Amino acid sequence: MKHIILLLLLSCVGLHAQKTYLHAGKVFDAKQGKILSEKTIVVEDNTIKSLLDGYVTPTNEMDKVIDLKEKTVLPGFIDMHVHIESETTPNRYIARFTENEADRAYASVGYAKKTLMAGFTTVRDLGGTGVNIALRKAIQQGKIHGPRIFTAGKSIATTGGHADPTNGHGKHIQGDPGPKEGVINSPGDAKKAVRQRYKNGADCIKITATGGVLSVAKNGRNPQFTIEEVKAITQTATDYGMHVAAHAHGDRGMQRAVIGGVKTIEHGTFMSEETMELMKKHNAYLVPTITAGIQVGEKAKVKGYYPDIIVPKALEVGPQISKTFAKAYKKGVPIAFGTDAGVYPHGLNANEFVYMVEAGMPEVEALQSATVTNAKILKMENKLGQIAPDFYADIVAVDNNPLENISTLKNVTFVMKNGIVYKK
Ligand SMILES: [Zn+2]
Repeated sequence: MKHIILLLLLSCVGLHAQKTYLHAGKVFDAKQGKILSEKTIVVEDNTIKSLLDGYVTPTNEMDKVIDLKEKTVLPGFIDMHVHIESETTPNRYIARFTENEADRAYASVGYAKKTLMAGFTTVRDLGGTGVNIALRKAIQQGKIHGPRIFTAGKSIATTGGHADPTNGHGKHIQGDPGPKEGVINSPGDAKKAVRQRYKNGADCIKITATGGVLSVAKNGRNPQFTIEEVKAITQTATDYGMHVAAHAHGDRGMQRAVIGGVKTIEHGTFMSEETMELMKKHNAYLVPTITAGIQVGEKAKVKGYYPDIIVPKALEVGPQISKTFAKAYKKGVPIAFGTDAGVYPHGLNANEFVYMVEAGMPEVEALQSATVTNAKILKMENKLGQIAPDFYADIVAVDNNPLENISTLKNVTFVMKNGIVYKK
C-alpha cells in the first residue's frame, strides 16, 4: 500500500512541469513600442506561456518566482552583425599565420559568453572560418553559454576582394582560392559557393559587395561583384531558404547589391540618396554598425595597430558611418540593429543603442530595430523579439527605463535565454 501511495505521489509531481513566474515592474512591449507596468511573465521550459496583469503568485509550490519588480524587462536583444569567433588585436594580421582553428574555437567560447551576458540572446554571425558553425552547435547542445547563432559561415568574396582569405599574402602562399573557399568569379562560381555554404551548415549568406576597411588592400569602396553574380547568389540562396547580407561601403557596389536582391546592407558608409530610395523600394535594411566605425577610427590613430595600407581607409570610413545612418533614418530607410562586434571587443554591443539615439533615432525605435525588426529579417518573428505567449523565453532586464535613459542598456542585470537564467 505504502508503495502505491508513493507511486501516486511521484506521478502527480511528474505531471506538473515547473514554471517560472517573473514579476516585472516594467515590460517593454516591442511590437507596440511602449512600456507596460506590473506584469507577470510565466515561463515553462523554453517558452513564454502567458503575460498576466499584476504580480501573480503561483499556486503550485514546485513553481519559482523571480523578483524583477524594480527592473525594466525586455525581450533579449538581437545583433545582426557580429564576428563571434574573432576579436580585434594589433596582432590580428600575424595571427592568420600562427593560429589554428582550435585556437580560435577556444577563444570564441569567451566571446559567446560575453555577448550573452550583455543581453544579446541572438546574433547573426557574418563571417569567420567555420568555427562559428561548430560554436552554434555547441551552444545549441548546451555545452557552452552563448547566444542563439544564425551564421553565414565563411563570407563570399571575389578574387582580391574584401573577404578573399589570401588577400595581402605573398604570392608564394596566395594559392588560388575558389568557390569552395568562398571566392567567386562568375555566376556559376556564385551558385557553387552558396551551395557549399549550405552544405557546410550556414544559415544565411554574406557577400562583400565592395572593398573593405580592414582587408590588406588599398580600395575600401570599389564594387567587387557584377550584378549577374549578385543575382546568382541571391537566387540560389532563396532556393535554399537563406537570405543574403552584403557588406558595402561604396555606393555603386551597394546599388548592385540592392537591385540584385540582398536583404541587408552592412555599414552603408557612402550611400547616396538615390540608393536610399532604392533601399526603400526593395525593402532592404541598413545595418549601420556605428560602433565599429567609431572604434576602428580610434584604433587607426594608434600607431602600428593596423597595417599602413588600412589606416587612411579607417580614418575616412569611421566618422562617416553615423552621418550616413542619420541621413538614411531621416529618409525612411528600414533600419536593422547590428554592430560588427569582433571588430571591437565583444560584449559592448549595447553601445550601438546610444550611438543610434545620438544620431537622431528615438529610443523606442532603436529598441524595436534590435528586437521585432531583426526577428523579422531572420524569419523568426513568431518566436523571437517579443515578450508574448508562444515566444522563446529570451528575456533581459535593466535597472532604468531605457526610453528615458538609453545608456541603461549597457548594464544588463538579468539574462534568461531559452528559459534558462544565465545572469541574475
Ligand atoms: Zn563585419
